[in-house]
Parts: sequence; structure tokens; C-alpha cells
Amino acid sequence: MLAITALARNYGDFQAVKPFTTRIERGEIVGLLGHNGAGKTTIMKMLSGYLEPSQGRIEYNNIDLTHNPKFLQQRLGYLPESPPIYPEMVVADYLDYAASLKGLKGSERETSVRKAISDTELQSKLFAPIATLSRGYKQRVGVAQALLGSPEVLILDEPTNGLDPTQTLQMRDLIRKLSERATVILSTHIMQEVDALCDRVLMLRQGELVIDEKIDALHQSHQLVISTDLTPGAFKKLIADEPALAACKEWQHATVQQHHQFTINLASGDQNSPATASNELCALLAKAIHKNDGALFELRRASRDLESVFKEVNNPASDKKEVKHAA
Ligand code: ATP
Repeated sequence: MLAITALARNYGDFQAVKPFTTRIERGEIVGLLGHNGAGKTTIMKMLSGYLEPSQGRIEYNNIDLTHNPKFLQQRLGYLPESPPIYPEMVVADYLDYAASLKGLKGSERETSVRKAISDTELQSKLFAPIATLSRGYKQRVGVAQALLGSPEVLILDEPTNGLDPTQTLQMRDLIRKLSERATVILSTHIMQEVDALCDRVLMLRQGELVIDEKIDALHQSHQLVISTDLTPGAFKKLIADEPALAACKEWQHATVQQHHQFTINLASGDQNSPATASNELCALLAKAIHKNDGALFELRRASRDLESVFKEVNNPASDKKEVKHAA
């Protein structure tokens, strides 16, 4: 388990990563998201020991890395944004050299190189000079070097950057396979990639960690959409008359295909009326509409995609967004 406490990094006077705290559990795939310059690479470099934090603490399995930086490095595989690949070397020699740099010796080194080659399906390119490889194969060589020594933690900076769609899918399959035996932290600009791969998202805005959530929770919008023939006045009364529907007090109305559509914002719920679109709440609403002689055409939980979460987070106007109180 990786525990990060108040970690921050300055470049001169500029604070590229503002203090943030989180924990990454064993076996998780965590996606780091953010615009260019948000601080993703800086965080990855600090976690991999390439860059010293300006403040804060990183602990791996309760060992403080400030005092023992090698502890994680020995258990880590790192794919930097631009892997240090030597173009004149052939793939097999480069991987053997990279394994020796990781301190692997003898049969352990040989086994590790073979395994990395097989995991990244590089067999057909073993004796090709790296300079002659396509971008996708170069990236695979970068991943193969990250896998040497069977790391417990893999840090992958934009692993699918520059790959074609087929290579991207292959890389995602590989990452999924690797996550069976390692914790994976990856950065990407592709939202589908996060959806396809990650358990959790850390979203950064100008160096600040603004979202640290499980993917499933991120998709929940805390909104319920109801389509009925009840007028806004009747709907307002229905909510007011039923104390168990107190969480539904805030809503917006629209007329859609001659029906009244109410979008209930549950995020305003308090402890007595939790802001979740539970099955019980949905059933209560349906019953209340029926009791008030209303016809119910639709009742659904709205869901958000990652793209819209990303836009909300990165649009400064969203900080000041007004919520319409209709009830
Ligand atoms: P990208 O998506 O473009 O790779 P990123 O989210 O990885 O961006 P970082 O590379 O971590 O962002 O950079 C964060 C901020 O720190 C940026 O404003 C960048 O210009 C700045 N920065 C990064 N490295 C240095 C450095 N060595 N010296 C000064 N500023 C730096």
C-alpha cells in the first residue's frame, strides 16, 4: 500500500504540485488525469524517486521513502513520458542492459528479460535495432524495461501516447494483465482509457488534486429524471406532502414532448435525507406520483461520463455555477 501525505513539489517559486494526500491500495489501477501542465508527470517522478518532493511523505508498506528511497525503487517499474531507449541497440541487448541496471544477475536476469519480452510480445523484434521500430513497438520496449524484476508497483506515464488504435487496445490488455500482479498508476489524456482500465481517478487542476474517486462513484450524478403528466405545481405539492421525499426538494422543470420532465438534484440532501438515488427513494417517488393520479412515463438515474466530469472540474465557471431552486 502506498500512502501519500501532504506531498508537494515546487520548481523555484512555482508550485507545480500543491499538497495532496491519498492512499493507493495493492492491486488498484489508478488513473492520473489533468490538462497539460497539471502536474501528472511531476507526481509520477516523485513517486518513482526520480524527483525529490518539496514537502510531504511517501510511504510504501509503512516504510517512509524519505529515509529509504531504494525500498520502493527496488519494487517499482517506471515508464517515463519519453523512455530512455538507446536507438542504436537491438531490443534484446537493451533489455539485458536495463536488467543489469536494475541489479538483476545471472539466471534471474535471463528469466526476467524473457518474461518481459513475452508479456509485451516483443519476440519478433528481438534483434531489431530500436531506431528501426515503430512508435508502438518502441513504447512496448519501454514497458518491457518497466516490467523487469517483476515490480509490485508500475508507474506508466501516458503508456498509449502515440499508439494506433490496435496498438492502444493491445497496450490496454497488457496493462489489465499486469494489474493482476502489480499496482498500476498511469497518466493519460484519454477518458475512454480511464473507463476501460482504472478503478480510481485522481484528477488534477493546475497542480491541485480536485477529485479522488472510484470510477463508479464518479459516474453517479446524484440526479433523478422523471417524466410525468403532473404539472410543476402538483409535483411541488407531492414532494412537500411526503416527508420521506425531503431529499427531492431541489429540481428543475422542462417540457419535453408535451410531458413535464423534472430533474431532481439530490446533491442538496442532508443527513436526514441522504443524497442517493436509492431504489427505495425511486419506489417512493413512483408511489407518490401514482397516489396523486399522475402518469409516470419515465424515472431514471442520470449518469455522467468522465468527459463531463473533466469539463466541470476544469471549467472555472463551474465553481460559480448557480443551482436553480424550483421548489
Ligand atoms: P503533460 O500532460 O503536458 O505531460 P503534466 O500534467 O505531466 O503535463 P508536469 O510535466 O508535471 O505536467 O508539469 C507541471 C508544471 O510544472 C508545468 O507548469 C510545467 O511547466 C512545470 N515544470 C515541469 N518540470 C519543470 C522543471 N524542470 N522546471 C520548471 N518547471 C517545470
